[in-house]
Amino acid sequence: MERILKGLSRFQKSVYPRHRELFQKLALGQRPEALFITCADSRIDPCMLTQTKPGELFICRVVGNIVPPYPDAIGGVSATIEYAVGVLGVADVIVCGHTDCGVMKGVLNPEALEPLTSVTAWLNYAQPARAAVGQHLTTHTDLEFLLALTERNVVEQLRNLRTHPTVAERLEQGDLRLHGWLYDLGEGTVASYDADQAGFVPLEAPTVRS
Ligand SMILES: [Zn+2]
Repeated sequence: MERILKGLSRFQKSVYPRHRELFQKLALGQRPEALFITCADSRIDPCMLTQTKPGELFICRVVGNIVPPYPDAIGGVSATIEYAVGVLGVADVIVCGHTDCGVMKGVLNPEALEPLTSVTAWLNYAQPARAAVGQHLTTHTDLEFLLALTERNVVEQLRNLRTHPTVAERLEQGDLRLHGWLYDLGEGTVASYDADQAGFVPLEAPTVRS
């Protein structure tokens, strides 16, 4: 905790003064361009990954980047989606899974999580992904199976996202885009779901002009 408090002190003494104008503008309101739904895993830093500043991403952190289908579990995730899409009017929603996800490993080994009743109940939302991967992949290594499950989970959560009325409405209007990402923690790379290819392809970032 000491390191965290030292960091806070450093933020207030040297970081905040450098960005005072931005923070004072943000104090009056926000207009984030995207809702970023990702796992609560401590190794993911959405703003570092996308090089965005405060005010640019509306972030929903939840174990396994799981989006319960509407109206199955009215709770924090559903409310966050409704607010971001219906009130703030974000233009894009990104569901971002990641490699070495402990939650996905838990889906593969549910016995280990049995004492954790909330986690176990939550992971039921990842069961359709497990079932889909189980049907199509039988000869792969554990690591490949985990990756396939993690990818499929992103696809299933995108599907669940579409069941939320605010999302469905904006999709109908044609002014909301959904994206499924898979972040490779060790490599720093991102693959994006391509519906036409029914798979994940390396995300080509636009060339940055120097
Ligand atoms: Zn995770």
